Amino acid sequence: MSAFNVAKFGGTSVADFEAMSRCAAIVENNPKTRLVVSSACSGVTNILVELANGVQDTDRRAALIEQLHQTHFSIVDQLKEQSQVKDDLLFILDKVNSFSEAASVQSTSKLTDHLVACGELMSTHILTQLMRERGLDTVRFDIREVLRTDDNYGRAEPQVESTAALAKEKLTPLCHDHIVITQGFIGSDEEGNTTTLGRGGSDYSAALIAEAVQASGLEIWTDVPGIYTTDPRIAPKAMPIPEISFSEASEMANFGAKILHPSTLLPALRHGIPVFVGSSREPANGGTWIRKRVTSSPLFRALALRANQTMVTIRSAKMFHAYGFLAKVFEILAKHKISVDLVTTSEISVSITLDKTDTSGGSPELPLAVRAELEELAHVEVERNLSLIALIGNQMETQGYAKKVFSTLGDYNLRMICYGASDHNLCFLVDADEANHVIQKLHQELFEAE
Ligand code: ADP
Ligand code: ASP
Ligand code: MG
Repeated sequence: MSAFNVAKFGGTSVADFEAMSRCAAIVENNPKTRLVVSSACSGVTNILVELANGVQDTDRRAALIEQLHQTHFSIVDQLKEQSQVKDDLLFILDKVNSFSEAASVQSTSKLTDHLVACGELMSTHILTQLMRERGLDTVRFDIREVLRTDDNYGRAEPQVESTAALAKEKLTPLCHDHIVITQGFIGSDEEGNTTTLGRGGSDYSAALIAEAVQASGLEIWTDVPGIYTTDPRIAPKAMPIPEISFSEASEMANFGAKILHPSTLLPALRHGIPVFVGSSREPANGGTWIRKRVTSSPLFRALALRANQTMVTIRSAKMFHAYGFLAKVFEILAKHKISVDLVTTSEISVSITLDKTDTSGGSPELPLAVRAELEELAHVEVERNLSLIALIGNQMETQGYAKKVFSTLGDYNLRMICYGASDHNLCFLVDADEANHVIQKLHQELFEAE
């Protein structure tokens, strides 16, 4: 195991000169930190996604690119040495311009990845120079030289072994001599094309890189002081969790707690790397440690919310007492690479949810071709504007548990409910506009009562 830490800074942590300076102070205060993984400056990826989806109006396109220019140059204007960074940024912004023009004619997922990667490529130029000017011996490293993925643009799968071999050759030695600043979110396929890991993917990158260099610790610096019992923006009385197990935190991330990308903890768990989540605004206030073993395993740990859910119900009387029906449904979904999230069944119907986590964003859709194939088999109904709420805890099969939860939810229209398959979670769908209320109510009853 390397004796150094990897620190990841999210978009709000590198939003402006002051925020980046706070990141520098965090790195200065911990000599073990040798590798920094940075997101794009706050708001930048959203603009790049809009451009990548194709903006035909040339004025709008120019305004978006001007906004990118402003965001980055307002930070650079506060540096002592500006000319090299400005040249580097202008070179990238020029590419953004030509990629955006191409995307306005035809948007593709490959082009999208080339375009959205520019956010992290720009922020790391600035962060490297800013830290250097404070006396840190920093070098910028293009992570595409190391983070190898498949070519599933927009949601690429990392290739762990090649990444580890490349990191050993190119990255670990560099970290022994310098503090290395690199990009989250992006990688490259075997042919050298740029890929991305899906929205919010910098957390996952940081964990993959920490695994590849065999780091002794991973710090995720964000805008909240740790993982809370639920999103503090939804329930202001949410409480910080000082220590949480990998499995509980993974459940939270999987069920949409935005604080961590869903796959973040897999690499950390594989290598037993302890993960710390804290606020770059108030680093002294502590945060959450994610560990293999923790001292307490409460019945109710946290509530997570995942918006943008689409539920598909496939209904057929032929399903009654028949065999092979479900297999046919899933065969069609698998053939079209539709990733199924939750499943419930009754005698004559099966309901599934579709989720969407790739870089291009938006609501998940059941492609028309898939719907047509399913309709040959049965009646198909699609419901949108749903949110998934997950209650995460321990030994949730305990008697009286369900009563406590469902009696709190009496006033709400619950759609699909999944309970029993795991004793760590209970989840259900609600109308999107009721979701925050449901979270607040459950939080009040289950977490604030004592
Ligand atoms: P970053 O840009 O640093 O990756 P994100 O916006 O992706 O930050 O994630 C941090 C946000 O996650 C917080 O501001 C908070 O609103 C949200 N969040 C959702 N669930 C939780 C939770 N359980 N605990 C803390 N924050 C949460
Ligand atoms: N910049 C990317 C995004 O906004 C990745 C990240 O910040 O984690 O999704
Ligand atoms: Mg994030």
